[in-house]
Amino acid sequence: MKSLDRVIAAFRRFPGVGPKQAERFAMYLLRSSEPETEEFMQAVKALKTSVSQCGVCCDYSDTPVCPVCSDPNRDASVICVVQQPQDAAAIEKSGAFKGLYHVLHGAISPMEGLGAGSIRLKELLERLESSKGGVRELILAMDPDTEGEATAMYISGLAKELVPRITRIAYGVPLGGDLDYMDEVTLGHALKGRTKI
Ligand SMILES: [Zn+2]
Repeated sequence: MKSLDRVIAAFRRFPGVGPKQAERFAMYLLRSSEPETEEFMQAVKALKTSVSQCGVCCDYSDTPVCPVCSDPNRDASVICVVQQPQDAAAIEKSGAFKGLYHVLHGAISPMEGLGAGSIRLKELLERLESSKGGVRELILAMDPDTEGEATAMYISGLAKELVPRITRIAYGVPLGGDLDYMDEVTLGHALKGRTKI
């Protein structure tokens, strides 16, 4: 395989990248200066070597406990549960939330044979148990689709003994929408308009 084709093929595997776009990315790299490509390669390499999961919220982090979990100004009595790290990032960007997160890294999907063991649910339940009542509210911010719905129901069933208040965020988006595609204002409203379940 020619070097250029190899890079194009690598970009084609990226989510949402079509053949034309993959080619543009590869051409860009080809035309970039040596320091630029070096920085790109180092950044990708560091992604695999220095990023692991936060020991508290399971979000990606360069440190054993992520900056959000280690911030004393965050409200540790509220945990917002999201499916993916980019969902937490989107909520963070909205500025509407001052509590902590828990990242599941997926959703329960019986259709695809993905059970509770495939997501970071055990970690969430352990976290709630060890907080000994310190967590007053669990906000379920799952994607508004079938898997998200199934996951939210499953979690609320297990967590209701451990947390006094479980809420779901209010969506103004059509079913099947992804949380990380919602704009910051909509996301902020969705959080404020959350309802108890
Ligand atoms: Zn964390």
